[in-house]
Amino acid sequence: MLEKIAKTLLSHNEIYIITHENPDGDALGSSFALKFALESIGKKAEVILNAPMPVSFMFTGWEPLVYNDEFSADCVVGLDFNVLSRAGRSAALFEKAKDKILIDHHLGCEIEGKYIESRPNAAATAELVYELIKLIISDIPENAAEGIYIGIMTDTGGCRYSNVSRNTHLIIADIIEKIDHSYLTRMTLEILSREKLEIHKYALNNFEFYKNDRICSVSISKSLMKNEDLLNGIVNIALNIEGVEAGVLFKERGDNETKVSLRTIGDTDANEICAVFGGGGHKNAAGCTIEKPLGEAKEAFISILSERI
Ligand code: 5GP
Ligand code: MN
Repeated sequence: MLEKIAKTLLSHNEIYIITHENPDGDALGSSFALKFALESIGKKAEVILNAPMPVSFMFTGWEPLVYNDEFSADCVVGLDFNVLSRAGRSAALFEKAKDKILIDHHLGCEIEGKYIESRPNAAATAELVYELIKLIISDIPENAAEGIYIGIMTDTGGCRYSNVSRNTHLIIADIIEKIDHSYLTRMTLEILSREKLEIHKYALNNFEFYKNDRICSVSISKSLMKNEDLLNGIVNIALNIEGVEAGVLFKERGDNETKVSLRTIGDTDANEICAVFGGGGHKNAAGCTIEKPLGEAKEAFISILSERI
């Protein structure tokens, strides 16, 4: 399928790239890698986000366009989502496009079309975008290599999660000399702004335990959350506590809206548990949005999770 996708991309001069709301490192890294690769062969390519660049990725200097209803392109590529609603407002661009291309690695793709590459065993969408770029140009440009690296490192926790394969390392081996890998790893996985440190301190003081300490969760109310981006990494701390098999982060997005992030180890299927609430993701990392106040959403989610762990 990637060959067919490459051919289609080459037949267009202008390509728009969209991804999921609250884009993470894989969403942004794979999108900008593809944009830079297409630009290097003379195409016009833009990454369209629903909101300005998340603060924690500003160091990249990557410049997206913020969605507006007037945008349209014959060819639109969707990256790193498996349900169109995950793309928020920019889903409209995808729906309007003549050639719709989707490249993703989540479980259970719900998008249909002629150009769908859905590979749940890929560690990151960036792995698939790397493969696609190699079909278009033999020598991957440096700026595209940075995007691929950031995508892979953020979706694998720095090449540590169970989704990492031989292929993941082969891709990194191919691009490592084009990038400052140590700097990129530090900037994406290690660095804490003072603001982020404060919210992490709050989280560490407010972890709650259930089911004989096999579940650890933390809730962040709207008043504490200036910027959702600052919460990245908190759910992983919960999971890293000895004996914990499921880490959960509850974010109060509104009076009747709670976003849940779930991380699990081993056989506990995070995708299946989040699917109970209309969400999804991967086996060990998934999310959902529950239309209930924070307290009620937490109770409902912990109850289902406790049954399945
Ligand atoms: P996070 O917890 O970091 O928001 O998301 C973890 C994983 O689950 C990501 O791969 C993300 O794309 C996916 N995910 C998060 N929320 C949802 C959701 O509401 N629906 C679906 N289908 N996937 C989600
Ligand atoms: Mn991803």
